[in-house]
Amino acid sequence: MTDTPHPTGTTRTLAALSLEEKAALTTGAGWWHTASLPQARIPPVRLSDGPHGLRVQDEAAADHLGLNHSDAATCFPPAVTLACSWDAELAARVGRALARESLAHGVHVLLGPGVNIKRSPLCGRNFEYFSEDPLLSGVLGTAWVNGLQAEGVGASVKHFAVNNQETDRMTVSADVDPRPLHEIYLRAFHRVVTEAAPWTVMCAYNRVNGVHASQSPWLLTEVLRKEWGYQGLVVSDWGAVVDRVRALAAGLDLEMPSSSGVGPAQVVAAVEAGRLDEEVLDRSAARVIELARKAAEGSRPGADFDADRHHGLAREVAARGAVLLKNEGGLLPLDPTAALRIAVLGEFARTPRYQGEGSSRVTPTRLDDALTAITAAAPAATVAFAPGFPVDDPHADADALRGAAVRAAAAADVTVLFLGLPPSYESEGYDRDHLELPAEQIGLLDEVAAVNPNLVVVLANGGVVRLAGWIDAVPAVLEGWLLGQAGGSATADLLFGAANPSGRLAETIPLRLADTPAHLDWPGHNGHARYGEGLFVGYRYYDARELEVSFPFGHGLSYTTFAYENLRTTSDDAGLAVTVAVTNTGDRAGHEVVQAYLAVPGSRVQRPVRELKGFAVAHLGPGETADVTLRIARADLAHYDPEAHAWVVEDIDHRLDIGGSSRDIRLTATVAVAGDPATSLPDADSTVAQWLAHPVGGPAITELLSTVRESMGDGYPQEDSPRHRMMAQLRLSQLAQLPIVPVGPDDLHRLIATVNSPKGPSS
Ligand code: BGC
Repeated sequence: MTDTPHPTGTTRTLAALSLEEKAALTTGAGWWHTASLPQARIPPVRLSDGPHGLRVQDEAAADHLGLNHSDAATCFPPAVTLACSWDAELAARVGRALARESLAHGVHVLLGPGVNIKRSPLCGRNFEYFSEDPLLSGVLGTAWVNGLQAEGVGASVKHFAVNNQETDRMTVSADVDPRPLHEIYLRAFHRVVTEAAPWTVMCAYNRVNGVHASQSPWLLTEVLRKEWGYQGLVVSDWGAVVDRVRALAAGLDLEMPSSSGVGPAQVVAAVEAGRLDEEVLDRSAARVIELARKAAEGSRPGADFDADRHHGLAREVAARGAVLLKNEGGLLPLDPTAALRIAVLGEFARTPRYQGEGSSRVTPTRLDDALTAITAAAPAATVAFAPGFPVDDPHADADALRGAAVRAAAAADVTVLFLGLPPSYESEGYDRDHLELPAEQIGLLDEVAAVNPNLVVVLANGGVVRLAGWIDAVPAVLEGWLLGQAGGSATADLLFGAANPSGRLAETIPLRLADTPAHLDWPGHNGHARYGEGLFVGYRYYDARELEVSFPFGHGLSYTTFAYENLRTTSDDAGLAVTVAVTNTGDRAGHEVVQAYLAVPGSRVQRPVRELKGFAVAHLGPGETADVTLRIARADLAHYDPEAHAWVVEDIDHRLDIGGSSRDIRLTATVAVAGDPATSLPDADSTVAQWLAHPVGGPAITELLSTVRESMGDGYPQEDSPRHRMMAQLRLSQLAQLPIVPVGPDDLHRLIATVNSPKGPSS
């Protein structure tokens, strides 16, 4: 696919600009603005972080590290939490709300969503990303962008690409093989780009297979534009440009922030010296003009938003995203009308940990804490609070804090203990080096569990924490991730059953760090992070290695239960459709996330045990049954063939595993799928085994081998015998050289002609 020509207006505007003006357009004019050219009627475009709320700053106090003041805006739950809703419609509503806030602040482009894959739970920025799975990340990212852009505000899907760690993020090379690159790390970007057409794509800081993402022609032009047909603008991450001229030539249209004239001067000099074709600059300048046009068209001077409604939406998302990991003996929900003595313990109940650190940090319009919300939700209860442990305060008296909390627990009917990662543990800019909660929190938990068995733990953490070791002592655990500004109220909603938990894990919780897929290659050496686990990221790894985990991908409990029946599948040119009847078998309404995993057990290539290919949320009243249909596009059945540089659907039975998590498969069906024409054809250098595996070559060589069998009689190796397996490893030309094999050059030519003939593989 090639670029479409510039719109006529843009071409005219461009023709009237000088070389210097065009160069100036392709670099920011400040921290958060693009350059404007009033005489050419090109207005500035205002960009702002993102993604889970607006971080609007004055230019004078601008920073991209979350340090300085930003105006108040709704702090929605970050992507880690939104992802656990598995709800595209909800993500779209968040997108629309963010757009309304952007318009009210005069922001044209919101810098999000982040769809990088969670390769390791240690990544300091995992709270800003959706999942370890590319389908879940891509579907939610697409919905978010569609919601935002429907209101006239542009998105910036980031960080393109393979930005999965913060350690050395400006320089590290993510060294990844073609299959995982396409099937895991680029796939969510592909979905967002092709299904939501984001106004901008933000390149990553890191290198990909040795080349800076900001100046990779392969990434920014070959893949993004030629293969995926992207028509929007590529913007650098803030300060990601290393060599402005090379970046422009590679396809990076807009350098952000301002380089104080350095970038434009280099571009002008390169064009004048003949080192850069002016057309390259024209193309990028045209994209900036086009972005400015869209921004002007979308802007709504004087627009406002309803902060209370947005707070309500933030509360709804928080309640939908928290994951009830465990609920032994139905300890939850608590009865809001009972005269319970409740001990609310842990500083996070009073001082919520509700978002991550760094460029995405939002100044909330208001902030709900769980302690206040619990007290309000249970008017008949007596609530005693104790902070229990210090948070990021080495001078606090931890023993005294612990003692008071244990005494409160001993005097209570039920204890709700808020644990989590202190803010300093995880942030943009650095990674964690372990998965542990602080030791003083675990110490408190042990003592509390010993005095009061009715213990509910509520967690606050942006990245996965290790649960093995303490969770057995706790009957109920609610994984709250980071719940945004209304998280306190949402927590009370869940604890007392005003909301029914419906979050499902968007990432596996492993037993220990050493089990994690990237463990041996993290965070790399000598500037290179080798993605040695290949395709086996997240549950794909734990399943392939048959490792036990604390909680599998997709897991999450509800206060009700669901039954699955009557699986039906259909297959056509568009892909597969799966329908299953889901019944709410409990006595309260709830959401079930129906998940469809694909397995291709007879595949010719290495494939994960199962991969998520479809999902849907069903909302069912008590006793209600509904048919849930999941559609799996044919493209999602394919694997990437690096030799052919193409996606291939195999001509083979595909198995669908349907259930409530990656390890809770309730129903299974096998569907025959008509494969794609073979892309690579066997020849004289291919082995007998490769010939046998080929859809057309297989029958042809089997026929030829039968003549060999006839002439060799009893000497012919039995199928599956060691000698047969040895023979299968010979190249076809080697087979023909064996004196006992009566196959000559003519036979070989005939065989090769068969797979090459128009009636052969592609017919
Ligand atoms: C981050 C981006 C962010 C940009 C602007 C960078 O440090 O990686 O995600 O949008 O700053 O603040």
